[in-house]
Amino acid sequence: VMWASSIACGDCVPCRIHREPTLCENRRTYGVNRPVDQEPGLSGAWADYICLRPGTAVVKVPEGIDPLAAMAFACAGPTMVHALYERRPVRVGETVVVQGSGPVGLAAAALAELSGAERVILVGGPQARLRTAAEAGIGDHHVDIVGAADQATALAEVMELTGGRGADLVIEATGVPAAIDQGLRLARRGGSYLVVGQYTDSGDTTVNPHQIVYRQLDVVGSWAFTGAHLVQYVGLLPALTRRFDLARLVTRYDLEEHGRALADVAAGAVLKAVLVS
Ligand SMILES: [Zn+2]
Repeated sequence: VMWASSIACGDCVPCRIHREPTLCENRRTYGVNRPVDQEPGLSGAWADYICLRPGTAVVKVPEGIDPLAAMAFACAGPTMVHALYERRPVRVGETVVVQGSGPVGLAAAALAELSGAERVILVGGPQARLRTAAEAGIGDHHVDIVGAADQATALAEVMELTGGRGADLVIEATGVPAAIDQGLRLARRGGSYLVVGQYTDSGDTTVNPHQIVYRQLDVVGSWAFTGAHLVQYVGLLPALTRRFDLARLVTRYDLEEHGRALADVAAGAVLKAVLVS
């Protein structure tokens, strides 16, 4: 089984009136704002046992799905299901640019392909991550902007891959504020910019707001996910694993090796570290 990392209260104004439980004012998230010193403790996942509270969405993983493959997008998958099912769906035949090649970026690219995008251009780095994405079958084009000697040249290459006009949809999955101004300029006139990666407040950035008006962009944000999005993600696992080699994205560590796993993630040496108890 998999379970959703957060629980919405069902009682606040966003839950009841706005019908947006991801925006719950009392959202409780395992490992974030459920301290282990609160009864009954055992609220983190880096452990042999976790105590699941009432209201947790628990979903059975379909038979035959490799648990490591399911974990590749365990958080990124439902995050992108929320963004792409509800905030700004991919339309058949669209050209999609994804900024960022971590799990959220790769989940965005994989789901865009499943949704019928004509072309998916993954812009990220370092090169090893892009290579792994390509080996897993994710993305049609892979542009290394992290290791590029000159970012302007990398961005010009992306623009050329879109056919020169920019993408119908640009999805931001970097978490880097400076990526926003670049992303605005990668969308075609009349296109959309879906911002997902700025989940952590990493500070201010400079954008040219003329780009939003001149390009007549729809700029859309998407915050987190709920249990319903996890159910939908798990439902997609057979289709995702048929088309993409998700297990290839995962590096497995024993639970005792959590320090090494953290260091490897910090160094960008692995894409998705998974602790196995
Ligand atoms: Zn609520």
